[in-house]
Amino acid sequence: MQEKQAVIIGAGPAGLTAALELLERTDIKPVVIEQSCHMGGISRTIEYKGNRMDLGGHRFFSKTDRVMNWWLRLFPLAPDMQSLPADADEALQVMLLRQRKSRIYYLGKFFDYPVTLSLDTLTKLGPGRTMLILLSYLRSAIHPIKDERNLEEFFINRFGRRLYKTFFQSYTEKLWGVACVDISAEWGAQRIKGLSIMRTLQHAARRIVHAREDLAQKGSETSLIEQFLYPPRGPGQMWEAVAARVRQGGGEIWEDFRVDMVRLEGDRVAAVEAVHAATGERRAFPGDHFFSSMPMRELVRCLQADVPASIREVSEGLVYRDFLTVGLLLRELNIRDGKREAQGLVRDNWIYIQEPGVKMGRIQIFNNWSPYLVADPDTVWIGLEYFCQEGDELWSLEDGELIDRAAGELASMGMIGPGEVLDGTVVRMPKAYPAYFGTYERFPVLRDYLDRFENLWLVGRNGLHKYNNQDHSMLTAMLAVDNILEARTDKSNIWDVNVEDEYLEST
Ligand SMILES: Cc1cc2nc3c(=O)[nH]c(=O)nc-3n(C[C@H](O)[C@H](O)[C@H](O)COP(=O)(O)OP(=O)(O)OC[C@H]3O[C@@H](n4cnc5c(N)ncnc54)[C@H](O)[C@@H]3O)c2cc1C
Repeated sequence: MQEKQAVIIGAGPAGLTAALELLERTDIKPVVIEQSCHMGGISRTIEYKGNRMDLGGHRFFSKTDRVMNWWLRLFPLAPDMQSLPADADEALQVMLLRQRKSRIYYLGKFFDYPVTLSLDTLTKLGPGRTMLILLSYLRSAIHPIKDERNLEEFFINRFGRRLYKTFFQSYTEKLWGVACVDISAEWGAQRIKGLSIMRTLQHAARRIVHAREDLAQKGSETSLIEQFLYPPRGPGQMWEAVAARVRQGGGEIWEDFRVDMVRLEGDRVAAVEAVHAATGERRAFPGDHFFSSMPMRELVRCLQADVPASIREVSEGLVYRDFLTVGLLLRELNIRDGKREAQGLVRDNWIYIQEPGVKMGRIQIFNNWSPYLVADPDTVWIGLEYFCQEGDELWSLEDGELIDRAAGELASMGMIGPGEVLDGTVVRMPKAYPAYFGTYERFPVLRDYLDRFENLWLVGRNGLHKYNNQDHSMLTAMLAVDNILEARTDKSNIWDVNVEDEYLEST
């Protein structure tokens, strides 16, 4: 009998999870097709002259035990940092347990993130601003906006107009490039549903009572979690290890091949075709099952079918937000905060920049994610994040100009002095964020259309056009494999992932 084969588009967390699950739980051979030469997709780790960085810091955290156990089976929890060797890669295949620290930089001051109603916050805001925030919160609590239609109304109902304007509006609009009134309230419902002033206060109270929570922190809103797992050499280390297992187990991974055609036979996918980036070689990959983690818009373009005009219109109208990170190697970062941190580097994993006029969204301090990301411990290795649109002014700047501009913004906030920048690099990531505007309102018709192809399993983040994190993306792949094993063609369990959850990346 001929061996069964599953063709998987994309070697990100979803695609690689599908491949390993198929190998370990079925007799179906996985064949992964990846357009780049990197493993991990958006969750890959970039190496630059011995320094490593994520595209955004990637916390490993899930409320789903199945995913937590999957990670810990591959990379067990490290006993402690001191016992780890400096080099040997094998021994580094562990998870570090990291404490989260992140703050908001606003009005030239640092505020805790999530914002706490502490004396420190109130002092920094000043009595006038504090009073206005309180009054506007009370107003929203007493007279909430009925039938929230957009994200602005969603925020105002939970935080009051003043607090929304102070801490939420600018960052959210920077991220999406559109006004909060033009983003559906559903985005808030999915990403920050559980977060409100009351939940923040409850969380603060619980912190006092229970100094340390369990690893899964199931009682916490996801945006409030305080510790997370992290591979010593970044998320890419995990995905490279998974790819190695897939290959060792007899699966195939075709790098530098971009899928540009999906051949159909009735309501089934028969094969995909892919082209090699450098040689132009074209190959066909026939299969019994097909997993797609490529963006839905591109997938529909690849379908060799008479896609109804109404469906094509929805898929063409899907919007994405792109992202770039400027990695800077510094002699020193001039941020000091409080007596405890007066010496050495601050402890933040990342800092949100709310300062008016500054385009950067966040600063990642990679030394604080893992010391193994930094080649020389006497240097500071940071990532300055910008949200943009492929082809816009920022995206199109030369790398050198981007590095100068990012360093200039840091200097304008007094975070570096002259001569502190030792080196820099730029990484651009298209389609980092699937957006909940554009034609998203009509998304169900696209979903129904693609769901009819019974052996086509949409998985992951852009694969489902959903704000999925690594854990959600992995879970969609695991469920698709479950469905294959159970001969289930209904895909609703995959779409249900991350509907009841809160989000992980923070607003
Ligand atoms: C700034 C930022 C911060 C984040 N922080 C976190 C975090 O802290 N924790 C967390 O868990 N998650 C985080 N995420 C989310 C995480 O990156 C994604 O959930 C995850 O990478 C999605 O996995 P995926 O496999 O679905 O897709 P991707 O990672 O996008 O991988 C898809 C792969 O498919 C390939 N591909 C696309 N089209 C084709 C084609 N036509 N042919 C062949 N290959 C193709 C791509 O090259 C890519 O390798 C963050 C994301 C961003 C943008």
